[in-house]
Amino acid sequence: MAETAQPVVKRLALIGLGLIGSSLARVAQREKLAESIVLFDASDKVRTRLHELKIGDVVAETAEAAVKDADLVILCVPVGANEAVGRLISPHLKDGSILSDVGSVKSSVVSALSPYLSEEVHLIPAHPVAGTEYSGPDAGFADLFLNRWCIITPLEGVEEAPLGILRSFWERAGANVELMTPNHHDLVLAITSHVPHLIAYNIVGTAADLEEVTQSEVIKFSAGGFRDFTRIAASDPTMWRDVFLNNKDAVLEMLGRFNEDLAALQRMIRWGDGDGLFELFTRTRTIRRGIIEQGQETAAPDFGRRTKH
Ligand code: NAP
Repeated sequence: MAETAQPVVKRLALIGLGLIGSSLARVAQREKLAESIVLFDASDKVRTRLHELKIGDVVAETAEAAVKDADLVILCVPVGANEAVGRLISPHLKDGSILSDVGSVKSSVVSALSPYLSEEVHLIPAHPVAGTEYSGPDAGFADLFLNRWCIITPLEGVEEAPLGILRSFWERAGANVELMTPNHHDLVLAITSHVPHLIAYNIVGTAADLEEVTQSEVIKFSAGGFRDFTRIAASDPTMWRDVFLNNKDAVLEMLGRFNEDLAALQRMIRWGDGDGLFELFTRTRTIRRGIIEQGQETAAPDFGRRTKH
């Protein structure tokens, strides 16, 4: 992130300016990752807000206009919206340009976009593993990707030069880059992100439906673990609906494993197997420590989370 570094691309187009898109626009502007940054969001309200926030150089009125002459186009829309956007913009993409995205699921994005693209466009999907439970252009901030992973999932036969450009774009945005196949990404994220979100949605839903424990008691005594689930369960409903609809196989596979392990825990409790419980809880503690040691979380009691941006 040296001050004298050249822009990574001449023209960057970002489609979808919510949490992720607006964070990317902010960091691209701050780090001068592009000579010009063009933005488009389908929502009139968001486009008006972008003018007020003064992020990017141009707020385009259509997606087609936004991608015209762009060297790098990044789709930052909910996973389920990629196909419609891809269909719309594909005839307007410049030969030699790179089309990427930030979706939390990768195989389905590849299937959604590939049919519309000419061979002259380099499709290189990516997923920054960074986020918060907030949405919209006001929720974004330039340091969102700092020291977070960005997983790039190149397709077979990808050319080295465009891959190098995308890699340096994310590195200059502060992320650490890792490469893997789209399928492998979907399996890894199913267990590290998607299933945990499903569990959070489920436990908060169960608590909300309880009859013997009142809602006010659930809220009042939420510090005992429940509070952290509520943070995750407050995540954007559109985004997460699309994640589960588009990563069905991997999520179902991991849920199967989860259910088996949960049944084993149930048995340990029923039969008073304290040693079994203690052994598991000791192993899981080690995983938590590993995450902190790798700088992906802090040991602060509030998990180092900002309360507002
Ligand atoms: P967000 O804050 O809801 O922003 C998405 C934006 O895209 C909204 O402004 C939305 O407008 C707009 N949009 C929807 N359909 C569009 C279309 N067809 N054309 C143009 N704009 C459109 O969502 P986000 O959290 O930034 O997530 C965006 C992507 O990043 C998703 O694919 C998600 O899987 C991925 N991701 C999210 C996180 C996270 O923690 N949030 C982390 C990593 C990756 P409307 O509101 O009017 O629909």
